[in-house]
Amino acid sequence: MSNGPGIVLPVCKTVIAGSGVAAMRFASRIRPSAAGSTVIASERDWGWFSSFPREWRLGQSRRALSPPGAEFWDPRGKRTAEEQVRQMISEATEAVMKFPSDQLGYIQASVTSVNKLGPKNCVVRYSNNYLQPCERVVICSGVGPEKDLTASGVKFLNSPTGPRVLLYEATTALKAMEQGSKWFAGKRLAIYGGGATAAWMGEAAFLWGGEVGAWLSPNGFAGANPGGRNNDIMDWTEHVRHEGKINMITFEGDTAYGRGLLANVQLGRAKTKADWNFDAIIAATGADPLAPTGIQSVLGLGYQSLKPIHLGNPAGLIAVDDDGTIIVTSPALAADPTWSGDFGPVFANLETENQIAAGIRVTELSAEAAANYFESTR
Ligand SMILES: Cc1cc2nc3c(=O)[nH]c(=O)nc-3n(C[C@H](O)[C@H](O)[C@H](O)COP(=O)(O)OP(=O)(O)OC[C@H]3O[C@@H](n4cnc5c(N)ncnc54)[C@H](O)[C@@H]3O)c2cc1C
Repeated sequence: MSNGPGIVLPVCKTVIAGSGVAAMRFASRIRPSAAGSTVIASERDWGWFSSFPREWRLGQSRRALSPPGAEFWDPRGKRTAEEQVRQMISEATEAVMKFPSDQLGYIQASVTSVNKLGPKNCVVRYSNNYLQPCERVVICSGVGPEKDLTASGVKFLNSPTGPRVLLYEATTALKAMEQGSKWFAGKRLAIYGGGATAAWMGEAAFLWGGEVGAWLSPNGFAGANPGGRNNDIMDWTEHVRHEGKINMITFEGDTAYGRGLLANVQLGRAKTKADWNFDAIIAATGADPLAPTGIQSVLGLGYQSLKPIHLGNPAGLIAVDDDGTIIVTSPALAADPTWSGDFGPVFANLETENQIAAGIRVTELSAEAAANYFESTR
């Protein structure tokens, strides 16, 4: 990432940061005449979906992830990542094709900063060091990068070097999924975190021949089973779930050619300490809004000026600055506890199984709200 002078691109009217669910729903709902010359900027198509195994069943039912009016033979059956990607591709095609070809551009880079010079006057900096002057920026960048174990408060007493780095012994949920089923097979794993993503890591381990040696969470497991969808995973892991913290991790043996981790854990209210061995530890502790590519760093001081807005029925949640120059869709806000209360009115109209702060249904509603707001303030 550079802060140098940068190469200035021709002015455009709208920059959409991201190419996932929110970006495509937003683009499909606005009129090209309202958006003017538009640039979609994103490092990777589909965000985390791009690296997800296609056969993987998502944590929500087919009904929960389908557009209103869709038909299903099994509404409670789980949708695969493949089906979800197909739906996203058809939505993206629809969104992109309605723009005249000279009005829509794509930049394969992250937005690293947004510098607001005045109302409807911004400069976006991309990770490839290009600068994009524009009128408005719509942030659809998802929940942000995952917290790794260090960001989750775990201390490492040493670190891997050379070939051992590629064993991904201390990793995160999405990085573990990116390694595919073979990475899980035969491993004794620890999962760290108490949410649905942690539960899905347990499911991946069971489906792909890994062993969940321990599932630890400092704050319990209340968020792990939204709508009862992970009942089976909760049953399978009952005897290995512990409320507790991982304090320290040591890479055992030679740092370049050894394998295996020793985790110092602290369990329950009594804070009993123990040393446990695992082949790998997966952090599923949520997103890190403070990371360099996260929303707070991208918007800088502008982040403080955002105000929440509910629009539509059921209400989508977005945040905007004082004159609508910057619009942020809800998943980017979901990692910040100051926004959590604002999801109440959105959830009030949703079925229990859709009530996930950064879930797909809330994302779609928020992208629709963003499009309505965008049109009404152009
Ligand atoms: C492991 C996992 C499992 C999940 N399972 C479910 C589920 O079963 N059901 C459910 O409802 N929800 C689920 N979710 C949540 C779901 O992924 C989100 O609701 C949805 O993807 C949010 O859409 P989005 O477009 O806001 O973000 P994303 O789909 O994450 O897309 C973000 C986009 O922004 C881009 N981007 C990121 N940072 C920048 C930047 N600085 N500049 C430019 N572009 C950027 C990315 O490359 C990507 O294109 C899951 C999430 C994870 C991580």
